[in-house]
Amino acid sequence: MKEKVTYLKKSWKYLKTAKNLFFFVCLLGFIYAGLSAILPILSAKIVTAITDNLIAQIFSLSFLLLGVYLLDFFVSAAIDNLYYRYVGKVNLEIQKDMARSILNLEVKNFDENNSGVFIKRLDTDPYEITNIFNSLRNALTRILTNLAIFVLIYTINIYVGLFFTFSLIVIYVIQKKRVDVFNKNWHTFREVDDKTSGIFQEILKGTRDIKALGLKEPFIEYTSESLNKSYRKNLKLSIQNNFFWTLSQSVENLSTFFFLLLGTYLMMNHMLKATDFIILYMYKDQLYSLIEYLSHFVGDLNEFSLAAKRIFDITDYHAFSKEQFGKKHIKKVQGNIEFKDVTFGYNEYHNVLQNLNLTIHANDTIAIVGKSGEGKTTLFSLLSRLYDTKQGDILIDGTSLYELDEETIRQNISIITQNPYIFNMTIKENLKLVNPNITDEEMIEKCKLAALHDYIETLPDKYDTLIGEGGVNLSGGQKQRLAIARALVKDSEIILFDEATSALDNETQTAIQTSIQNISKDYTILIIAHRLSTIEFCNRIIVLHDGKVNGIGTHEELLKKNKIYQELYKK
Ligand code: ADP
Repeated sequence: MKEKVTYLKKSWKYLKTAKNLFFFVCLLGFIYAGLSAILPILSAKIVTAITDNLIAQIFSLSFLLLGVYLLDFFVSAAIDNLYYRYVGKVNLEIQKDMARSILNLEVKNFDENNSGVFIKRLDTDPYEITNIFNSLRNALTRILTNLAIFVLIYTINIYVGLFFTFSLIVIYVIQKKRVDVFNKNWHTFREVDDKTSGIFQEILKGTRDIKALGLKEPFIEYTSESLNKSYRKNLKLSIQNNFFWTLSQSVENLSTFFFLLLGTYLMMNHMLKATDFIILYMYKDQLYSLIEYLSHFVGDLNEFSLAAKRIFDITDYHAFSKEQFGKKHIKKVQGNIEFKDVTFGYNEYHNVLQNLNLTIHANDTIAIVGKSGEGKTTLFSLLSRLYDTKQGDILIDGTSLYELDEETIRQNISIITQNPYIFNMTIKENLKLVNPNITDEEMIEKCKLAALHDYIETLPDKYDTLIGEGGVNLSGGQKQRLAIARALVKDSEIILFDEATSALDNETQTAIQTSIQNISKDYTILIIAHRLSTIEFCNRIIVLHDGKVNGIGTHEELLKKNKIYQELYKK
């Protein structure tokens, strides 16, 4: 319970953003509850007026009833309207906070967890938070009105009051059992459900590869295994839950029967009037529904607690680690890079880089070569601070990378991966995203340097052409050139370029080489080179082997004295 109260207090900061809306929902909720308490009295009076043939009274009561119904309609419509506004506003705040925190997480969290873990939390959990405050409000209103009804029942007839109290206790015990069993299984169900959602993500992201690799059947098998697990957990949850619901419903029905017997007995002995009998009969359902509602509420509270934990685990960086940066800000670095005794591994058992030392001067164009898996991409990831070294340091212009603030690193270092992510926007929007202040002329200049301008000119809407879904699909080489243009628009001093391993057509290959040559004098460029043609115009080539720099030199130098390079060259 302590944990739930803590989460409620923490969630308050989100509710606060829509507190006026929520206040009016509460106020109208009380009015609505008051109206539903009046209805049974009015209905009972109408029934007795009908049986006593009091025509004038029937008329006036009918109009009174109409008034209550109309009021009821307007109040509930207003509650719905305000409530949905409140939900929208609060959810927006939670999801915004979560999105920000997810982007602040260390990259290793995404290696260790499948994306379903984050998607489900972003998608469904915020609703549990907005829901709990509404449930709390509802519970409070219902408890207050039902307390009033209880007092009324006891004043009408103490025996019926005692009978209702007893029935309510029995129903409460059954509902409590239902909630306990539900909670026991809910947590594991959500975990299984997260995994299934992750698999669906994978299918959507990897459709092309799944098809091309002929993996349709194994993937369907894999998916159905996970779906089966999720189905079995869900089935168990639903069957147990429904059993206790039906049981509690049957107890309610049985107690109605005993109430009728008790009421008739009391009436026969002149201890209860017919009108009061009807009022009590009508209040009965409201009382029973309170217990049902409260048990729903306990369920809501548990779901809320689990959802809040899953949300705050992200926003408070409890379960996932946050990126840490230094404080030093450098607007424009020169581009000198030094790896000092760097050791790094993705896990404790194996180091990819071991005491690596490397110096790169500003405006150098360096090629990095090595067999697959030697740590070339890892070197880029460390330089972009996507991962932290285990030992040693990386210096930019003599300052440790770990002392630099996030903006310095992101602004001054650009990484162009083999398959860069181009946003589903127009070309211009993609470029202006990284530098909103750039003029169209400057942007075109950068695209010319990236050897992309001529191609853009052939597109139907030129720079305003939409890329990706619903627009033009770019080839691998074009995406890389757009990523180069993006790095130039951002004006990063250090550009890390992971050359595509896949064979590019000659024209694209030449275009990429032209673009790199165009910029090579003004930027520090590191290229993971898979083709010897790229290496030709680099100042130096670095051979990576066994986690260390195995050799540095020009193509000719290395070919003469470096065994690993000779092997690579032969291949
Ligand atoms: P290269 O670019 O030279 O082919 P990488 O830097 O991609 O090599 O990988 C070096 C080693 O680190 C490989 O053994 C690879 O399996 C491993 N590795 C790469 N990325 C990760 C990761 N995110 N998590 C765990 N291991 C990784």
